[in-house]
Amino acid sequence: MKNFYYLLLTVVLFAACGTLNQMNIFSIEDEKNFGNQMYAQIQEAPQDYPILDPAKHAVAYSHLNRIMLTLLNSGQVNYAKEFEWTIRIVDADVLNAFACPGGKVYVYKGLINFLDNEAQLAGVIAHEIAHIANRHSTRQLTKQYGLSALTDMLLGQNPNQYVQLAAQLAGGAGSLAFSRSDEYEADNNAVKYLSATDYNPLGVAGFFQKMVANGQAGGSAITWLSTHPSSPDRIQKIQEAWTAYGSKKGDDFAARYVQLKNSLPK
Ligand SMILES: [Zn+2]
Repeated sequence: MKNFYYLLLTVVLFAACGTLNQMNIFSIEDEKNFGNQMYAQIQEAPQDYPILDPAKHAVAYSHLNRIMLTLLNSGQVNYAKEFEWTIRIVDADVLNAFACPGGKVYVYKGLINFLDNEAQLAGVIAHEIAHIANRHSTRQLTKQYGLSALTDMLLGQNPNQYVQLAAQLAGGAGSLAFSRSDEYEADNNAVKYLSATDYNPLGVAGFFQKMVANGQAGGSAITWLSTHPSSPDRIQKIQEAWTAYGSKKGDDFAARYVQLKNSLPK
């Protein structure tokens, strides 16, 4: 019966908005369930996702956990208390990071090595946190699957749908591409988060500036760019957000970042 009211509410919202763009019919519990299923699937696929064991790489994880906690404690992150936040390092020389719903953040070793300072890495992690906090994955799913598949699922006619959706979400960081506006929103919120910490908020633009400086801005082989469209436009929007959130100077924490890099396996 609860599902029925949920469905009714959904239909009313559809009628009211006429658009799926900002809708999300999944609950916070759904969101956490998706995240936990994806986390389990990733753990079981070390050939695709060679995760560094936190017990064996305590120093590296102490840095990453500290960075994530600093951001979550900024007072700016939605669901900072509700979601089960976890960060993992993927041991591969790849310039990428991705997020799973409900609080799971993954950063590749190659990206950590590529960046220059902790503010830049905090910017990347903040961007991924923002995708989660704004529930972009389930918002995209709502949009992609449309009313019929979702009503089937809500009415219990296709209970396997959850498993299929979780598999699709876990099928790779890129299989469910975020929209351009999602990316801009994640950039904007990342600047907002960092502006409420000791970090230099312009660290959010650091990755893109380095890519442009290296002449790789249009490189289609770069994994990050396949899921994170880049452009000078994006750097400019980050700088505008920085001004809007108070032009905080902050610190890059470059010296401390060397310790993190040195703690990673070669
Ligand atoms: Zn993104």
